[in-house]
Amino acid sequence: MGKGFFHVPTAINEPVKSYAPGTPEREEVLKQYKAFYDSEVDIPLYIGSEEIRTGNTRPMSPPHDHKHILGHYHLAEKTHVEQAIANCLEAREAWADLTWEQRCAIFLKAAELIAGPYRQKMNAATMLAQSKNIYQAEIDSACEIVDFLRFNVEYMAQIYGEQPESSEGVWNRVEYRPLEGFVYAITPFNFTAIAGNLPASAAMMGNVVVWKPSDSQIYSAKVIVDVFKEAGLPDGVINVVYGDPVMISDTVLDSPDFTGIHFTGSTTVFKNLWKQIGNNIHKYKTYPRIVGETGGKDFIIAHPTAKPQQVATAISRGAFEFQGQKCSAASRVYLPKSTADEILELVKKDIASFNKPGSPEDMGNFITAVIHEGSFDKLAKYIDKAKADDNAEIIAGGNYDKSEGYFIEPTVILTTDPQYETMYTELFGPVVTVYVYEDKDWGETLKLVDGTSEYGLTGAVLSGDRYSIDEATKALQNAAGNFYINDKPTGAVVGQQPFGGARASGTNDKAGSMQNLLRWVSPRLIKETFVTPEDYRYPFLG
Ligand code: NAD
Repeated sequence: MGKGFFHVPTAINEPVKSYAPGTPEREEVLKQYKAFYDSEVDIPLYIGSEEIRTGNTRPMSPPHDHKHILGHYHLAEKTHVEQAIANCLEAREAWADLTWEQRCAIFLKAAELIAGPYRQKMNAATMLAQSKNIYQAEIDSACEIVDFLRFNVEYMAQIYGEQPESSEGVWNRVEYRPLEGFVYAITPFNFTAIAGNLPASAAMMGNVVVWKPSDSQIYSAKVIVDVFKEAGLPDGVINVVYGDPVMISDTVLDSPDFTGIHFTGSTTVFKNLWKQIGNNIHKYKTYPRIVGETGGKDFIIAHPTAKPQQVATAISRGAFEFQGQKCSAASRVYLPKSTADEILELVKKDIASFNKPGSPEDMGNFITAVIHEGSFDKLAKYIDKAKADDNAEIIAGGNYDKSEGYFIEPTVILTTDPQYETMYTELFGPVVTVYVYEDKDWGETLKLVDGTSEYGLTGAVLSGDRYSIDEATKALQNAAGNFYINDKPTGAVVGQQPFGGARASGTNDKAGSMQNLLRWVSPRLIKETFVTPEDYRYPFLG
């Protein structure tokens, strides 16, 4: 412990820059984009103090321009994963013993580096790697990751301040020990902020980490590594490996020192990892913490009293921003018959006003490409099926083209079957399915919303009637971990709307909250007695 009860700086959300024409930030990010685009990067594994180049490489390309090569990354073999674990364990003692304010300072410095000198590197890398338009990049790879780092420092200080009562002659205190081993962070492609936060939140609490980023996000993950290095994160605290996810996970989960998994990604992968951890449970020195935020089938339900223009905007933004590749993206919509036509006409008008999907370098583009060919092919298959099915109809979009980039038009499927496949399957793309209900069936439709999908991540109700809002809030209590009233179901802000859902959507440990950080510590209660008893006899013994 340091020599003082230090107050950490009050966390504030990083302001979102506008990137409007003529602003300096717009010019800076476009310059950085071009510089990255015109050069090739060679990304090693980061293990301990070493940058390892195995020579077995894979190319990286922008999803909107897949013939262009941005560089290569090196694939790990089993020995590298073992080396990463060994480096974690070697670094563990010094890192866990470092006074907490020193750990805070490293991550606060990382936040300021991203908010300042690294901002446009983070954004340009995210535009290229994940095909985000500048606004989507800014709210993710600049603001959200800065918020995660700043707010988590504040939550950490709050946790350390959480202490038990003491009685006369006794001092009770709790120390929040890092877990006894190493943490495995597995991150998804869709948020650079999540990629940085999963290893950083565990490391901030004194843990050492093996981090496996998504193959589709390594380009922007490298900028995070650069930031952490410049912020002074000691070697071996976060070790980064890429390659065959099954081999990497098998190796990590086989280690007796594995002590927790911090995962964000799809439900099936997480469930299989959980099963594997269960099968290996006798190997581990301690019960591992299992934290996973997974898939969603997020809904919008409009009451007949909702304003059509507001519902249409919630759909256009909620379903199509970042090509529907947010775990919170609206992908099933329930509209009342009395206003459905008007709402859908407004949505079609919005879609018609988007530019054709294209590169994020063209700042007029609201919609860019989906992440990779696998995703493109899957989405195209569902669109084709909707075209052929009698109980579904495509009322907007429906075209796709992968000749240059993985472009899928924002698509609206209208179905007459509330159990149609795309009403419950997570597609993770710019495709939303709409079901129109009879106004009188509002109550029944709430049950339908609650029971149609296995997920429980986000959802929104739009209504002008307070009784119906109350009814929906109660009926959908378990249908969403993040529930929105008269808004779209996306856009959670760290420190304001802690994020996560239950059912098949995850363990709901709320990223960017105190609850999440508590998973990465193991409290030790220390009771100290000042005058130690010297006679075993209690008074009642006479
Ligand atoms: P994904 O499951 O394909 O990949 C996530 C990570 O798991 C990647 O690093 C990947 O390499 C790794 N992985 C894949 N197969 C693996 C295996 N067999 N063993 C071990 N690791 C494996 O997910 P994605 O496509 O990167 O991300 C999209 C998914 O993430 C969606 O389902 C989305 O809903 C979910 N997501 C959820 C949240 C949330 O907060 N609930 C946030 C972001 C994304």
